[in-house]
Amino acid sequence: MIVMIEGRACNRNSYVGEYDRGMQGSVPPPGAIFLDRDGTLIENRHYLGSPAEVALLPGVREAISRARTNGTKLFLFTNQSGVGRGYLTLADVEAVNRRMIEVIGLGADLFAGICIAPERPDEPAIYRKPAPRFIQEMLEQHALETEQAWMIGDSPSDWEAGINAGIHAAAIVIDAAQETFRERRLQLGIPAYPTLLDWAETVFR
Ligand SMILES: [Mg+2]
Repeated sequence: MIVMIEGRACNRNSYVGEYDRGMQGSVPPPGAIFLDRDGTLIENRHYLGSPAEVALLPGVREAISRARTNGTKLFLFTNQSGVGRGYLTLADVEAVNRRMIEVIGLGADLFAGICIAPERPDEPAIYRKPAPRFIQEMLEQHALETEQAWMIGDSPSDWEAGINAGIHAAAIVIDAAQETFRERRLQLGIPAYPTLLDWAETVFR
């Protein structure tokens, strides 16, 4: 089962020493940012279906505000296998998304596109990350170049979706001392940032 929802309808720097900054000055400012939701924009709670449990991560509002000031298009790209598993409904996920957008407080039209990928990991993936399809479709629809686009998330599937689409990727690693996917991240050469704002500060100058 695949559901696509597009368009409008649908303690910073604590560990800087342990982060390997891979950003170089030659990268142009982003035209598009694809954002993972859980563990990137809001606190990661497994199979989150309750809007009341939405907790924004530090730096998210400021980073998004900066992106909007620069005219960067924002896309939300979230794997929600809990829908495919029957633990929560698509309406639950949408309610959480709405609450998150409300908490960010920068308007209801924050995202130019939203993809909720409901497939279970054992199902064939069409939109489920690391599949690059949503990114590719949005780049085409919005006439964006791969060099202008970033996928940002806290999981290997986020970075791999970005790599598979041929765009830049960056990792949010809140606690470098307890980084779960460090080996994989280093293998893929993905730079890590403790907050979305730390990343934004390197690309929006
Ligand atoms: Mg995540």
